Amino acid sequence: SKALDRAASLIATIPDFPEPGILFRDISPLLADAAAMRAVVDAVIEPFADAFDVVAGVEARGFLLAGAVAVAAGVGMAPIRKAGKLPRPAASVGYALEYGTAAIEMSDDLPAGTRVLLVDDILATGGTLRAGHELLDELGLVLAGTAVIMELEELGGQAVCGPVHAVFRV
Ligand code: IMP
Repeated sequence: SKALDRAASLIATIPDFPEPGILFRDISPLLADAAAMRAVVDAVIEPFADAFDVVAGVEARGFLLAGAVAVAAGVGMAPIRKAGKLPRPAASVGYALEYGTAAIEMSDDLPAGTRVLLVDDILATGGTLRAGHELLDELGLVLAGTAVIMELEELGGQAVCGPVHAVFRV
């Protein structure tokens, strides 16, 4: 659609951020455009319509998408937080970063068996979303699907985290 084409054009490509040699994709111009954002949110939801009870987003930019998806789909939102932010984490999963490690955590707000759509802004190496899947597993939640705004295909993320619905691929 025209709105989706416009949305794609609003994702900025920034060379050498956060480090030399990295081509950073910046979704903030897309977030600022109502029609483009609406089109992306609808495209994220479309393959999973009525198949999820809650949307979970990964801190921090995943929250921006998950909140909008929740309202558009008429479901609740569950934040997946970086370690150390939650007063009562119910589960924690560590994963490797390019330099060092990180961990993500969730509270135990959802009953076991809840069908969760997991979303993030960008799929790069797939480590973050794979950790997200493990976290949902540990809490007895059911993965309804995984979606991102943009997949960076050459990094091969889906080999690490399994199938992901990407609205855009580069
Ligand atoms: P992965 O774990 O390597 O797939 O990296 C994905 C995580 O890093 C996501 O939470 C993204 O928000 C972030 N990320 C990786 N590359 C980019 C980028 O080019 N732009 C914005 N975020 C990125």
